[in-house]
Amino acid sequence: MLSVQQAGKGCGEVLASAHWVKHLADMSKNTSDVIIIGGGVAGLSTAMQLAMRGTSVTVLEREQIGNGSTGRAAGLLGQLRGTTEHTRMLMDGVEIVKELEAKAGVEIYVQTGSVRVAETPDRAQEITDLVEMGHSINFDIDHIAIDELTERMPYMHTDDLTDACWCPTDGHLQPAELAAAYHKVGRDHHVRYENSCPVTGVILDGNKAVGVQTPRGEFHAPVIVNAAGPWSHLVASLTDTTLPAAALGHVYLTTQPHPDHPVDRLSPGFRNRHHRIYGRPENGGLLVGMYGEDCPVHDMSILPADFDMSAMKVRRDDINLALLIHAAQQRFPWLNERTPMHITTGIMTFTPDGLPFCGQLPDHEGLYYCTGFSGHGIVQSPAIGLIMSELILDGKSTYDIDSIEADRYWDIPGFLDREEIQQRCYTMQGSYYGRIEGKTANVKQKDT
Ligand SMILES: Cc1cc2nc3c(=O)[nH]c(=O)nc-3n(C[C@H](O)[C@H](O)[C@H](O)COP(=O)(O)OP(=O)(O)OC[C@H]3O[C@@H](n4cnc5c(N)ncnc54)[C@H](O)[C@@H]3O)c2cc1C
Repeated sequence: MLSVQQAGKGCGEVLASAHWVKHLADMSKNTSDVIIIGGGVAGLSTAMQLAMRGTSVTVLEREQIGNGSTGRAAGLLGQLRGTTEHTRMLMDGVEIVKELEAKAGVEIYVQTGSVRVAETPDRAQEITDLVEMGHSINFDIDHIAIDELTERMPYMHTDDLTDACWCPTDGHLQPAELAAAYHKVGRDHHVRYENSCPVTGVILDGNKAVGVQTPRGEFHAPVIVNAAGPWSHLVASLTDTTLPAAALGHVYLTTQPHPDHPVDRLSPGFRNRHHRIYGRPENGGLLVGMYGEDCPVHDMSILPADFDMSAMKVRRDDINLALLIHAAQQRFPWLNERTPMHITTGIMTFTPDGLPFCGQLPDHEGLYYCTGFSGHGIVQSPAIGLIMSELILDGKSTYDIDSIEADRYWDIPGFLDREEIQQRCYTMQGSYYGRIEGKTANVKQKDT
């Protein structure tokens, strides 16, 4: 057929025409309904939900799937958030994970229950407010007597505590298993995954995104999702879009099992916001992380193209590590810098208000954002994948997503300048555990 159509043409024309046919074939091979940039939990969950509704999806990953923030996470799952809608998203997320476990045949969710503890009047009031809020939406939460807490967590110093609450349905998600399960179920629904395939350009037709460029050729789709985690503001800059997100460092420690202070596999997760620490059991030891006032700010644009987050290390004399050990010691006095421990560090994507960006921006049609999870992307990903699939396929979500709409900072001066954005995200991270949640806090904020 080709030769008949090309009869009478000069050699150059035949070659050009053959090239064009090959280009068309490549285009159809590389064409899908949706392209997702980034194979972390956000992209994988979105891809799976879309594919389960019959959408053809291609996930393009710069390195290897799960190699970004996802591979570094502690996985703590605390469903109780400062608002009822965010709490509902996480409660629904647990149900999605349970279905996923059945479909993929892996254990993802370890239900240990979790506690929050208070040692100051403000923190005690916070707990009272949160218990009240939890009850108003049928979330399983209650105050727990300090004696009972001491029995459940004998390795924790409890003498100075004045109140605590207990959430029996909390626990932690295993990030690697979660990513693998999204991947497996997505693959069962024909999601195409391409590793070592960095997106280097976005193809526009007017103001509409129609494809992406990679070293392995072009990929085409009428919908493109930027789920590039800490790199997402760089991917946004490919279309000259300013995304108010910054890449911030985070660190946690995991002790080896201590002969005098064993931590059972099903011991509760904990949050001690006064000391800015959180944690959970891990292999007979204790995992403790911290949202301190300070953290490293990373410039993702200067990292090598093959940067692998799992290779990141922290120096033993790092100030943030010293602060973490000091804070952990306040609750676990047997823990010190000589305790055998493993240190994990990685990079999170923070936003100025600590909430993710989901949806489109006004500048480019067909270009969606799914990023900015500010330290909670693992636990948010099950519901976020669902929300993204609703936004893309139905044009709206069944959740109230006002607070996480991608365009909430659009065109506001101060959110267009990178240094200012970084400063705001850094400040947000610093106040993450420092601020008080609950209705009393809201009243105080209005008063000031
Ligand atoms: C130390 C640490 C502890 C944490 N603890 C918790 C926790 O306890 N609970 C919790 O819920 N969350 C936690 N988090 C946060 C959580 O890991 C993240 O919110 C979540 O993994 C974000 O997922 P993501 O898909 O948005 O980003 P990522 O997992 O970073 O995925 C983005 C992907 O995009 C790829 N990419 C980037 N640029 C391109 C490009 N140009 N082309 C193609 N691909 C590209 C990257 O390689 C990467 O794989 C923690 C994070 C860290 C670092």
